[in-house]
Amino acid sequence: MKTMNYERKVGNLFAVLGNPFRIKIVVSIGLGEACVCHLESVLEKRQAYISQHLMALRDAGILETRREGKFVFYRLSNPQILDVIEKGGLAAGIDEKDLSLHGYPIRDKDCICPHCTGDLINKNTGI
Ligand SMILES: [Zn+2]
Repeated sequence: MKTMNYERKVGNLFAVLGNPFRIKIVVSIGLGEACVCHLESVLEKRQAYISQHLMALRDAGILETRREGKFVFYRLSNPQILDVIEKGGLAAGIDEKDLSLHGYPIRDKDCICPHCTGDLINKNTGI
């Protein structure tokens, strides 16, 4: 049945996003892109832990990857996922002014990724 297909797809999406850390990853990437080492320094979790969640988000089609040299960058397959999370936040009673999900990945002085060191400028975001 087609209707079951719809509900299953939306249910699968929410199931993957049903983990606060995954939401944090998606929001941290925002409209830019980030490598594992960047997320490691921004989110302050071990690389293995972050990679495991990145894989789940990629398998679900929420993230896609781009390889450049020795770096693999993750970005949102569809930026609409940020709207889904924002609507989820509003539905959960979070004040609109406390939702700021459309930022780009922030630079981190301790991060060695090409975006933070300035070796690579993202054409889309300018950072
Ligand atoms: Zn970085």
